[in-house]
Amino acid sequence: MGSPLVIAHRGASGYLPEHSLAAKALAYGQGADFLEQDVIASGDGQLIVCHDLWLDAVTDVAARFPGRHRADGRCYAIDFSLAEIRTLRLRERIDVATGTQRFPARSTSSDGLFPVVTLAEELALVRSLNRQTGRSVGVYAEIKEPEFHRQHGLDLGQQLVAELESAGAGGDLPAYVQCFDPAELARLRAAGCRLPLVQLVEAGTPGTIATWRLHSDVLGVDLRLLLGAGSDLAREASAAGLTLHAWTVRSDRLPTGVTTLAELLQRLCGVTGLGGIFTDQPDQVIDNLNLRARAGTQGAGQR
Ligand code: CA
Repeated sequence: MGSPLVIAHRGASGYLPEHSLAAKALAYGQGADFLEQDVIASGDGQLIVCHDLWLDAVTDVAARFPGRHRADGRCYAIDFSLAEIRTLRLRERIDVATGTQRFPARSTSSDGLFPVVTLAEELALVRSLNRQTGRSVGVYAEIKEPEFHRQHGLDLGQQLVAELESAGAGGDLPAYVQCFDPAELARLRAAGCRLPLVQLVEAGTPGTIATWRLHSDVLGVDLRLLLGAGSDLAREASAAGLTLHAWTVRSDRLPTGVTTLAELLQRLCGVTGLGGIFTDQPDQVIDNLNLRARAGTQGAGQR
């Protein structure tokens, strides 16, 4: 297998606020193969790009809309209109329980500059950059909490796939659709969705490789499950015809027992069937993979 695909996790989120268009444009310029979108809905049913169901960890919502939180203290996007959400500004992610920055080494100098993005806006950016550069950078969209959205009357998965397809997914726009919920992916597959589907896997995800392979093409796996001694996941997935995409490589937060980014990438590239790497720092991963390719430690780089 050639060099793994480099998937920009929430954009180049190691450098700019996650899911800002700026972070996506930077990742594009750094040479990522795919840009990731976490997708949720606003109260008026518009798809927006945000990792959590609530807005507190990455925006100034608490200050701009005092009193709009639920009993758990959090401001859910589904309780706000898109027009309201557009007034918010992104910031470096905080831990909402403590108010402290999640990744302390990252710059906060772009806090307050960028708005929350709709899926449509992001798709338009990628299409425009592809047109202008001649590249075929793809999108890698995650259906967040489909059951929650269904309880609010929305079929998030179907709506997301429809938006992707109208932007060219399945045609000239490379695209993956990812979800943790096996039932949601099984529904999409049964409904005839032809886009490649990614079953996200972390410790405790319901199902087995035998069931996931019925509705998915790729397993998007917590990389810690691939590094553990005696892990059979990669071998079994590969035997079942599934490709592995590993998340998430962060040069400023390496997994326990790993001391350098180079070591982490070397170990991941040795995993059977590894076809993609999610990262917050696409530039560093690409540099490292290119160095490895030049050093002849793997086949010629495909990127
Ligand atoms: Ca995600």
